[in-house]
Amino acid sequence: MEKKKLPEQEESKLESTEVALVLESTPEASELPAGVVIKEEISNWTPKTRIGNLVKEGKINNIDEILGKGLRILESQIVDILLPNLETDFIMVGQSKGKFGGGKRSIWRQTQKKTAEGNKPKFSALAIIGNKEGYIGFGYGKAKETVPAKEKAIRKGKLNLIKIRNGCGSWECSCSGSHSIPFTVNAKCGSVEIELLPAPKGTGLCVEKECAKLLNFAGIRDVYSRTFGQTRTKFNLISACFDALKKLSTTKSQHKVRGQIPEGIS
Ligand SMILES: [Zn+2]
Repeated sequence: MEKKKLPEQEESKLESTEVALVLESTPEASELPAGVVIKEEISNWTPKTRIGNLVKEGKINNIDEILGKGLRILESQIVDILLPNLETDFIMVGQSKGKFGGGKRSIWRQTQKKTAEGNKPKFSALAIIGNKEGYIGFGYGKAKETVPAKEKAIRKGKLNLIKIRNGCGSWECSCSGSHSIPFTVNAKCGSVEIELLPAPKGTGLCVEKECAKLLNFAGIRDVYSRTFGQTRTKFNLISACFDALKKLSTTKSQHKVRGQIPEGIS
């Protein structure tokens, strides 16, 4: 027994030293290679579209020039250059296998096709991308394996980027800040319907957990909400929430003075 214990201890010591080494090396390593990798990717990137060329030459320095004209972004590197501090997260769209129908939520949605050779599984993931200052995107990627599905989702999210309008349309607060949304919006996807309402400062995000992730990435801190339909279908819920956020910048606002009582709240 003693003989067995000794090697284990040695192993654990080795592991701990390795871990320590990794911990020591990561803060420096994570900062340098990440920047280097991005620079390499951008320097190796040969743009194929007109907007891509303009961005690489430095004639477009602001992403608002692209989004404001309603032009379509077809290369994810454009977003990488113009908005370097984007964060990504994944929505729990699928469920891992469990007995008796009780599965745990996971970020992979796994589906199968029945063929003569056997079952062919496919994976998909839903990524959200934002900088917490008004820029938000979401993308859905499908692949035969998990990692490519994740990468596809992130890339599609970057192409699907929008800018939202924030403000404060709450009559309880009537400040001129940008902690909430300027007016009530609603959107629908499938049977899921979502309504987002302005809320006073300090309310927090009173929405479903996965929607809160999206709103947090968009930079909204206070909101009330109402939902209808099968909100368990997370893809539809997130899609509806995204459409509602889109309406903030596409709807013509009737409330020029912030703090005025908007329609829908009385
Ligand atoms: Zn306010």
